[in-house]
Amino acid sequence: MTVQTFNPSNTQTTSTQATATLALPVESGVSIKRLYIETQGCQMNEYDSSRMADLLGDSHGYVLTTDPAEADILLMNTCSIREKAQEKVFSELGRWRKLKEQNPELIIGVGGCVASQEGEGIQKRAPYVDMVFGPQTLHRLPQMLNQYHDNKADRSTNQKISLVDISFPEIEKFDFLPEPKVEGYKAFVSIMEGCSKYCSFCVVPYTRGEEVSRPLDDVIAEIVSLATQGVREVTLLGQNVNGYRGDMHEGGVCNFADLLRLVAKIEGIGRIRYTTSHPLEFSDELINVYAELPQLVSHLHLPVQSGSNPVLAAMKRNHTIDVYIEKIKKLRAVRPDIHLSSDFIIGFPNEGDAEFEDTLQFIKDLDFDHSYSFIYSKRPGTPAAELPDNTPEDVKKVRLSRVKEVLKASTIAKTDAMLGKTLNVLVEKSSDRQDGALIASADNTRLVQFIGDTALIGQFVTVKVTDIRSMNLVQAELVDA
Ligand code: SF4
Repeated sequence: MTVQTFNPSNTQTTSTQATATLALPVESGVSIKRLYIETQGCQMNEYDSSRMADLLGDSHGYVLTTDPAEADILLMNTCSIREKAQEKVFSELGRWRKLKEQNPELIIGVGGCVASQEGEGIQKRAPYVDMVFGPQTLHRLPQMLNQYHDNKADRSTNQKISLVDISFPEIEKFDFLPEPKVEGYKAFVSIMEGCSKYCSFCVVPYTRGEEVSRPLDDVIAEIVSLATQGVREVTLLGQNVNGYRGDMHEGGVCNFADLLRLVAKIEGIGRIRYTTSHPLEFSDELINVYAELPQLVSHLHLPVQSGSNPVLAAMKRNHTIDVYIEKIKKLRAVRPDIHLSSDFIIGFPNEGDAEFEDTLQFIKDLDFDHSYSFIYSKRPGTPAAELPDNTPEDVKKVRLSRVKEVLKASTIAKTDAMLGKTLNVLVEKSSDRQDGALIASADNTRLVQFIGDTALIGQFVTVKVTDIRSMNLVQAELVDA
């Protein structure tokens, strides 16, 4: 097999054994071509997958399918945040290999963070993979696909040629992605890429590159376009959104607090969320925005990872527990009803009993809503991978279950406390569980079911909670439309 390094800047590919020129014309055909995308990991990957679908729909006419067996092209958008991510990728690829054996015309592509880490290694282990691309080069998929077809048409070689492009072209992808296609009333908007924090356990700075913000005008134009297509809620996405520094066309740089103020002015946008952010850049100015903007939800996901200072230092988070607590106190002073969620890594190297008990106490003290907790897993190439993994697995498991128990209890208590409360909710669809009922979403991410006219779908309405159905679903009655 020959591996080509994909080089779109001169529309040529370089290879140790072959060179070919890109064919740029768009394909056409009468039969419907189907695209299946498997998305692993975070909301950034969900966003990237939806953009891949838009891109290949526009350029090559691909239509999404939920059945890999009927697809003409299979794309896997991978995540490397957890241990065994590579194994998961290769085991899924093994299943796809069988589909390719039945249909030799099937095209298989692997993108995302595992692709970025492994590069050509993907095809060394899985030679039936045709294309490998990174999070920053997914916009080049149409050209890669053209290149793939050119290579196939080139009868001068019988060798399989695979394409690899895992480079980090600065923010280029947003200039090439088509207008997002809207389904429903909520949309993700990526405002920046990468991360420069270099937490000792994390692969993101190596797989997605350092922080680069999209220019302010581009972000605003995208949200205006979404709003005119009916979107009422946007989630601003990035690995570290509060590090946003978007160039402004008149010169200068817009920070995240000002970006929120500008988004809140866009007609039609009634609710703003963002994820994810870092405590260090959770500034006083950003806290004050919660006092100014009712559109900013009363829900904040602010990862802390540990409630122990020595562990935070080993994680290179560059802040202490006191700093985090102080920021949350200030936030709760301006937004008393804020729901706070976080991420916790359990069993990090040198987390002894005392460090763990500090974390558990911290979780109880801060009173988190629905949060994420995981056992630490070593990521190859990160500084923490060099540290001794000195906590026995069974101890880690017990610690994790204690953390999950506390988090679940506080999440249930917060849902229960909604009983009798009046909420502003976004109506999203008809209920498939109860005739005549609608499903809406609350600021704190709970689903709200109530009887109402389908004409309300897509609008914000006021409801009163009358019953608690589960940790994530409450029953309500309409108060005001
Ligand atoms: S801030 Fe988040 S994305 Fe950035 S290095 Fe740390 S954990 Fe990874």
